[in-house]
Amino acid sequence: MRLIDTHVHLNFPDFKEERVEIMERAQEAGIAYFVNVGTDVETSKQSQELANKYENIFATAGVHPHDAKDVNEAVLNEIKEILKDPKVVAIGEVGLDFFRNMSPQEVQEKVLEQFLELYSEIDKPLIFHCRDAFDRLLEIVTHYGKAPYSGIFHCFSGDKDILKRCLDLGFHISFAGPLTYKKNDELREACQYCPLDRLLIETDAPYLPPQTKRGKRNETLYMMETFETMKQIHGMGGEALSDQILSNAKSVLRLPL
Ligand SMILES: [Zn+2]
Ligand SMILES: [Zn+2]
Repeated sequence: MRLIDTHVHLNFPDFKEERVEIMERAQEAGIAYFVNVGTDVETSKQSQELANKYENIFATAGVHPHDAKDVNEAVLNEIKEILKDPKVVAIGEVGLDFFRNMSPQEVQEKVLEQFLELYSEIDKPLIFHCRDAFDRLLEIVTHYGKAPYSGIFHCFSGDKDILKRCLDLGFHISFAGPLTYKKNDELREACQYCPLDRLLIETDAPYLPPQTKRGKRNETLYMMETFETMKQIHGMGGEALSDQILSNAKSVLRLPL
C-alpha cells in the first residue's frame, strides 16, 4: 500500500526534533509521500527546502487567510518566485476563514482574488482553506470564471450540497481527522457522496488529530485512522482505496510519481 498525506506542516516547530522519525513512522505504515503546505512566505520557503531535501516531499507556497492582512506586492512576488521550483506543486494554502477572522473579511477576499489571478498566470493547482465561508469563496471563484479549476478543498468541512458545488467547479476534496469525530455524520455523508476519482486524504498535522488521538499533537501516522473510516464509508479495501487516492493526488497535483 502506498498512500499520500496531501496536507501536512512538517516544518512547524511542533515537529522540530522528531521530523525524521515522524516521516519514518508514516512510511512504515504505508504513507509514502507528503505534501508540505506553506502558510506564509517564511513557511513556504521552509516547505521548498524540505521538498528539495527529501524526494518524497512536495511543497506548496501561499498565504493562509489568517495572514491575508500581511499580503502586499512584495509578498506576492516572493510566493511567485518560490512557485517557479518544480518541487513546489501548488498555490496554497489560500482561501477564506470567517470562523476566526484573524484578517478582516474584505482583506481576505481581496487577497483570494490576487491568488486566483496568480493561478491563471502560472497554471499550478490551488489548495483552499475554507472555514465558515463556503458561500463567499464559491461565489468569488465562480465569478472569477475559469472553471473547471484544478485544485483541492483541504480539510473539507461542508455538507453534501457544498461538496457538490465544489465538484462542479472541478475541485478535489480532501478529508482530515474530523471525518472520524463521533458527531460528524454529516461530514461522513459528504465523504460518501464524493466520487472516488475526486477523493483525497490528509492530516493537517500538527493540527486536527483523529478521534482516538484528540488533544494530542497530530502526525501523519495517525492518518491511518481517518483512512479506516474512509474505507468503511466507501466500502473498499485498503489497497484499492490507497491506489485510487494516490492516483487522484498524482493527477490533481501533477506529481512526477
Ligand atoms: Zn488550512
Ligand atoms: Zn494547513
